Amino acid sequence: MKTGFDADKAVDALRAVLGTTREQIALHEPIFSGKEWAFVKECLDTGWVSSVGKYVDRFERDLADYTGVACAVAVVNGTAALHVCLQLAGVRPQDEVLVPALTFVATANAVRYCNAIPHFVDSNEDTLGLDPFRLADYLRDVVEMRNGEAWNLRSGRRISAVVPMHTFGHPVDLDPLAELCNRYGIVLVEDAAESLGSYYKGRHTGNHGRVSALSFNGNKILTTGGGGAILTNDPELGRQAKHLTTTAKVPHAWAFIHDQTGYNYRMPNINAAVGCAQLEQLPGFLNNKRALAERYHQVFKSVEGLRLFLEPEFAKSNYWLNVLVFDDSCADRLEGFLKLTNDRGIMTRPAWTLMTDLPMFKDCPHMDLPVSQGLVRRLVNIPSSVNLYQASNGISHHRGGE
Ligand SMILES: *Cc1c(COP(=O)(O)O)cnc(C)c1O
Repeated sequence: MKTGFDADKAVDALRAVLGTTREQIALHEPIFSGKEWAFVKECLDTGWVSSVGKYVDRFERDLADYTGVACAVAVVNGTAALHVCLQLAGVRPQDEVLVPALTFVATANAVRYCNAIPHFVDSNEDTLGLDPFRLADYLRDVVEMRNGEAWNLRSGRRISAVVPMHTFGHPVDLDPLAELCNRYGIVLVEDAAESLGSYYKGRHTGNHGRVSALSFNGNKILTTGGGGAILTNDPELGRQAKHLTTTAKVPHAWAFIHDQTGYNYRMPNINAAVGCAQLEQLPGFLNNKRALAERYHQVFKSVEGLRLFLEPEFAKSNYWLNVLVFDDSCADRLEGFLKLTNDRGIMTRPAWTLMTDLPMFKDCPHMDLPVSQGLVRRLVNIPSSVNLYQASNGISHHRGGE
């Protein structure tokens, strides 16, 4: 007999994975179990604490190696990285930039920083990210090509870039999107803020767009306290990224000469030192993440009315934040589940409010958003810190914060 969703059973499933010893379980907390202290101490001991130093250089090299791109430029946060990415992509004031309606607000904010207009796109059920096939149908209706550029017939504005976001670490279907970009002369910029360690068809996310953004905020899979990076395979864009993020200062032994309006977006050496130590641990973090996701997947199989979201077939995901997807018929139980879990010390949270429902973006252009609207009512993130489950021995393991 079908009994439907039972919130107590769902909490029991969470407890089966997370154990019962901890009173409070965060959604995602940072773990510093490598050389973070040693590297930061060296910064303080030597005085190299600010925007010049060997850890910044090393972090950029290590990131480029890890993701397979030609250039990585470390910056103060992921939002700043996105802002500069869009400038490097050639986004001009009054352009439209295609972004998912279901994303963290930074994706859309960065478009506004360029005095451009976010144009919101629906998501795909199987990736939780921008749907390239529905976008293709939509662009066929609204776009006219002029001199190799896409113009929105309804608004009279140019559409210059698209920013797919790899939701909770699960890659968007990038090949059909890249094809669309070629056809319409639209620049592909990846918001890979959540997907360090995630691969699309064997190639790292952030290594598909002309430029891409990473984030190392405190809640991401790898943290530098605050931080971000710009990735590109174009050495000239890499050079411009570094120039723009370091006040556009022309190299000179003593003179202050700046050749454009640049930004003070450079990552300080102290933060990069933490990043270098974190990056050494990333393979272990990823193993634990995947083991935790597998465990959640197993226990939630026997809970009716929801499932754990699994990586798309073409992807290897970092499982940054595990997400439960409620069946449509049980969506009205989600609010109660959020309350029950948070009351019991297990932090859970719903998806972001859709960008089109935020006051500053409510008048922006958008396609029909049935999938995003459906997903928002049905998604719940559950605890996903890398210390919640050890890949090696399969034993729940708690430390820190107690
Ligand atoms: C974290 C994040 C960013 C950037 O965030 P910062 O806090 O500025 O580093 C951008 N986009 C998405 C989707 C994010 O999750």
